[in-house]
Amino acid sequence: MAHLICRCGNDMWNGESPNDIEFWVYSDKTLDALSFEDSIPFLSLCNKDDYNVWRCPECGRLYVFDEKVSQDKPLWVYRLEE
Ligand SMILES: [Zn+2]
Repeated sequence: MAHLICRCGNDMWNGESPNDIEFWVYSDKTLDALSFEDSIPFLSLCNKDDYNVWRCPECGRLYVFDEKVSQDKPLWVYRLEE
């Protein structure tokens, strides 16, 4: 569980499960490597995440983390244009 203060000032928290804050992004290659299975169990994906994305519900900013690089500092921050 963690908090992240968005640049707009909103305090985001991923402590509820499930939540609308945190997303897991997988590359096509990662999913293809798992495609031998008919269904992909959640636990198979837990350690395969390529990116962890937090979306601010107030302003729509996206904070993209690569937890293999850093759990505290996002690789990229995207601000909603439209
Ligand atoms: Zn925000």
